Amino acid sequence: SKTYGGTFLYHLEENLVAIGLVVALDYQNPYLSPFDEFQRVKTHPAIARHLSGATRIAYGARAINEGGVQSIPKLTFAGGALIGCSAGFLNVPKIKGSHNAMKSGMLAAEAAFDSLRGGSDGQEELTGYTNAIRQSRIIKELKEVRNCRPAFRWGLLVGTLVSGLELWTRGVLPWTLGHHADHESLKPAARCRKIDYPKPDDKLTFDKLSSVFISNVNHEEDQPSHLRLKDDAVPIDHNLALYDAPEQRYCPAGVYEILDDANGVPRLQINA
Ligand SMILES: Cc1cc2nc3c(=O)[nH]c(=O)nc-3n(C[C@H](O)[C@H](O)[C@H](O)COP(=O)(O)OP(=O)(O)OC[C@H]3O[C@@H](n4cnc5c(N)ncnc54)[C@H](O)[C@@H]3O)c2cc1C
Ligand code: SF4
Repeated sequence: SKTYGGTFLYHLEENLVAIGLVVALDYQNPYLSPFDEFQRVKTHPAIARHLSGATRIAYGARAINEGGVQSIPKLTFAGGALIGCSAGFLNVPKIKGSHNAMKSGMLAAEAAFDSLRGGSDGQEELTGYTNAIRQSRIIKELKEVRNCRPAFRWGLLVGTLVSGLELWTRGVLPWTLGHHADHESLKPAARCRKIDYPKPDDKLTFDKLSSVFISNVNHEEDQPSHLRLKDDAVPIDHNLALYDAPEQRYCPAGVYEILDDANGVPRLQINA
């Protein structure tokens, strides 16, 4: 109940529904599994009645940047620019970002056009884009809601009150709350209770592997793994020892597994 998030159920054409769960990654209990929480949501009577007798046809997962205006990174690099959600232009309390993705794409295209027309070979940084974003309605909009998400560090009640005040006053409050790194909230496994998630029933709830199978991910089977560890010892000596390897649970694609080698010594396997 201390984890920030929410659920949605969209009714679509042709008798389809899209259902999802948002889980903030600054949760405290390392045994929390966003995938399994989502399976559990579907068993709530208010949700289950829309799904009973239905067929699961697709599954997906996506990261939502919730840093807002105070987390926007440097937007350009030689020959490229960050636009849309890759730059963090999402309006977090409204969970709306399509308009800002389109607007930033337009501003980047205009800056690129100006640069090429000025004789550029396309390799320098589009500083014109950064300036255009600073003066755009995107920054104005994100400033107005900058304290909404960080206020939830004080819990649901205070978060809702501060967030409501922020929306009502359109961000004129004279402060900007900072963020903490998500991993700082995680408590050691020894101080948390294990969460016993129910087994999938293959009607409303499903396992991770069969879900990933219908996610339409497309890559070469023998593609070399792009996930590289900086320090091979961290997953076992730190993550497993202290937090019971939360990567086994937070990854919605089941990419990380702790397996025992031939001598019974645990090791991290990356399925990518
Ligand atoms: C649950 C939810 C509800 C939302 N509701 C709304 C709403 O009601 N209104 C609204 O305006 N916004 C909403 N948003 C936000 C909105 O979806 C995003 O702000 C918007 O889609 C951002 O657009 P984008 O083009 O920047 O990124 P994306 O839409 O994420 O597009 C990025 C694309 O890149 C592709 N991609 C990623 N990696 C690779 C790769 N290596 N190679 C090739 N392709 C790749 C992805 O598959 C994806 O199609 C919602 C978001 C979520 C998660
Ligand atoms: S490996 Fe798992 S946690 Fe990491 S980005 Fe992919 S799906 Fe998300």
